Amino acid sequence: MKIVAVDSCVLTVPTPKPIALQFPQHKLVVAEISTDAGVSGLGYSLAFGGGGAEAIQVYLDTRLKPVLIGEDPLFVERLWERMFRADMGIKKQGVAAYALSALDIGLWDIAGKIAGLPLYQLWGAVTDRIPAYGSGGWARYSVEDLVGEAERYAGLGCRYYKMKIHHPDPRENRKRVEAVRRALGERVRLMVDVNQRLDVLGNIRQAALLEDLDLVWYEEPVLADDIAACAEVSEKIRIPVATGENNYTRYEFRELIERRAARYLMPDVCRANGYSETLRIARLAAAHSVAVSPHVVHELSLHIVGALANGFLVEFIDWTPPDLFEEMPPCKDGHFQIPQRPGHGMALAKGAVKKYRSSA
Ligand SMILES: [Mg+2]
Repeated sequence: MKIVAVDSCVLTVPTPKPIALQFPQHKLVVAEISTDAGVSGLGYSLAFGGGGAEAIQVYLDTRLKPVLIGEDPLFVERLWERMFRADMGIKKQGVAAYALSALDIGLWDIAGKIAGLPLYQLWGAVTDRIPAYGSGGWARYSVEDLVGEAERYAGLGCRYYKMKIHHPDPRENRKRVEAVRRALGERVRLMVDVNQRLDVLGNIRQAALLEDLDLVWYEEPVLADDIAACAEVSEKIRIPVATGENNYTRYEFRELIERRAARYLMPDVCRANGYSETLRIARLAAAHSVAVSPHVVHELSLHIVGALANGFLVEFIDWTPPDLFEEMPPCKDGHFQIPQRPGHGMALAKGAVKKYRSSA
C-alpha cells in the first residue's frame, strides 16, 4: 500500500455562546491522506481560537507532505521519525508540531481501518467508556454565563467542571469559583486554569485563596516554557498541579515528570506530535504514577484514555456545530462511549468542507 495524495485545507468554524464571548471561532487544519488501496485517513489539528492555522497548513504541505508521498502508511513509527527529523532547523514544537500531529493522526486512522479496529483496541484497550469534565468558564463570561455553563455540563452528568481564573485580583477569582461551587454543590468537583498567566509568587498567593475548596487540580500556573517555575509552584502549593497542553515532545514531558512539576499531565494530540508521541508521553508518565488527562479534542483523545491504565478524564468543550462531523460521540451520564468504528472513527460531515473552508 502506498500514500498517493495528501489534501489539506483550513476550516473556520464559529463557536456557540457563551464560548463565542471569548473565541468567536476555532480553526481546523485538515489533512486527508489517500492510498492506492482506496483506504484514506483523516487527520486534523485544532487551532484554538484560530491561531497559526494558515502557517500550520503551509508547513504541512511544503515540508511534511513530501515525506509521506509514495510511502507505506502502515509504517507509522518510521514515518513519524522521518517527519520529526525532516527539518533539523525546525524544532517540532508550535506550528510544525501541529502539522506533524495532523498527519500522524491520519496515518493511525488508516492503520485502524486496515486492522478493522478502533484505535483504543488496536493499542490494547483498558476501557471503552471515558468520564469527561465540562470545560470553559472563560474570563469574559459574566457570573451568570459561568454558572449557566457549569450547570449545563452538570445536566449532562459531568461530575467535574473546569473554569478559568484570569482576573488580576485573586480574590475576584475566589468569588467566581465560590459562585460555581454554590450553584453545583457537592455533586461536581472543580478544577481551575491559570493559562500561564502568573509567576511563581502570584500562583502561591492565588492558590492559598483556593486551597479549602477541594479542587481536583490547579492548571498551567506559569509559562509552559518555564518548567523549573512550574516545579516550584507544584512544590509550594497544596492543590495538585496539572499542565502539558503547551508542551510538545516526550523530552519536555520527561523533564516535567523528573522535576515533579505536575501530578496530572495533559498532552494535546494535535500539538504534542500526534497520537504516536502522546502514547509515548503517557507511558512514560505511567512509570512515575502520573495520570494523563489529554487536552481538548476529546473525540480524538478518547482513544488515548481508552488505551491507558493511567488515563483519567477527557476535556469536554461542547463547541462543534452538528454539521461539522458525521457523528460526534454524545456525552451520556458524564461519559463518552468510544466509537466502535475502525480508526479514530471521526469523519467530516458531507458539505462541511464546502461550508467551513476558509477562502484565502
Ligand atoms: Mg488549560
